[in-house]
Amino acid sequence: MIPADLISRKRDGYTLIKDELTWFINGYLSDKVTEAQMTALLMAIFYTGMNEEETFALVDVMLNSGSTLDFSDSGAYVADKHSTGGVGDKVSLILAPIMAAAGLNNPMIAGRGLGFTGGTIDKLETIPGFDTGPTLETFKHWVKKNGCAIMAQSDQICPADKKIYTLRDQTGTVPSVPLICGSIMSKKIAEGISGLVLDIKVGNGTFMKTMEQARDLGRWMKKIGTAFNIETDIVFTNMNQPLGRFAGLACEVQESIKALKGNGPKDLMDVTFELGAKLLIQAKLVHHKDEAIQLQKSLIDSRKALAAFETMVDAQGGRLDELDSNAKPDHETVVHAPEDGIIEWMDTESIGWTLVNLGCGRKNPGESLDNTAGIEFLKKVGEEAQKGDPVYRIFNSDPERLNLVSSMLEGTFRTEESAQGLVPILGIL
Ligand code: URA
Repeated sequence: MIPADLISRKRDGYTLIKDELTWFINGYLSDKVTEAQMTALLMAIFYTGMNEEETFALVDVMLNSGSTLDFSDSGAYVADKHSTGGVGDKVSLILAPIMAAAGLNNPMIAGRGLGFTGGTIDKLETIPGFDTGPTLETFKHWVKKNGCAIMAQSDQICPADKKIYTLRDQTGTVPSVPLICGSIMSKKIAEGISGLVLDIKVGNGTFMKTMEQARDLGRWMKKIGTAFNIETDIVFTNMNQPLGRFAGLACEVQESIKALKGNGPKDLMDVTFELGAKLLIQAKLVHHKDEAIQLQKSLIDSRKALAAFETMVDAQGGRLDELDSNAKPDHETVVHAPEDGIIEWMDTESIGWTLVNLGCGRKNPGESLDNTAGIEFLKKVGEEAQKGDPVYRIFNSDPERLNLVSSMLEGTFRTEESAQGLVPILGIL
């Protein structure tokens, strides 16, 4: 087969068969297909899409690029949650230990920052010593012993997603339904789970800007999950503003710990509990959403969820007692409200790109991150700001980058005389 021939056919709207996708992706993994050729194919898929046969083939090829986990010897319900990506989205860090404390096994394969959205793995790596790249045997041992563990795609599991994900991050090829399906579902199926809840973000701070696009993605993912015998629930959540009060790296881990101590912001907890409820009902631990929410709150009140988080971090080599000193930024500045009013709109995608500029994401592969970088949202949609009030507190360890982004942030919110707060949960499937 000839890479340029496959790329041209995809570009011109023809269907690729599974053998061709297998050959191309395996060729990319063994460096016979170049990065330029893979990028061109991704861009062709981005523009022309994929039909059902191709999408299923893509998931299968990506899944079979590495090993898969088998939890049939686990007595617990084995399930996971994944988000399509947002700004300030730290739900995984809170939900995995809540599920572990409830008695589920949660093997979570997560990703790094993608485009303007943050990555669970980058956030966890701000905890000194935290190992996100264990062997599969060790990962499984952690999950069975502690109830949850979080790792990145590796050369052992989902190597195709590991390599393609990094390339998509750099090449503007993230917001594509088949590419998102291939990336997320290959990781989730490889985990050997029985249940899954997907948080499909909708709005100006994620890849699916409209409910229609989000529903389309949701239908595809549910169809794929069901075909692989995974009970799959979908929750659509609002990403028209950052989730919680912080977005960035270590500051999101700190906010997650606060949430596990019972002090999480309402929008963050609403999303966490809604997703958790789906898994607890799937596991048949409870029958109704109200009971599921009560159970999660009680696991937070009793500090059992916090203990599960600490156990997970400890098992993975993390030194939580060093987090706060590691997270301390050298510099900070504030963006003020230019006039009296109520925050009516936030440009969440621009805030996400600003975070990349601040040091929370990579403009080029292998770039090192600034663990201390982030933004605190002192005002959010529906909240009142007087002229001169601080709206954002921005912090990092590089004054040049800090100055650059503070002016970029000035245009990312708007005030009006009146405005409503945003509803966090938009629907289910
Ligand atoms: N999360 C993933 O793991 N992959 C995507 O493509 C988008 C979000």
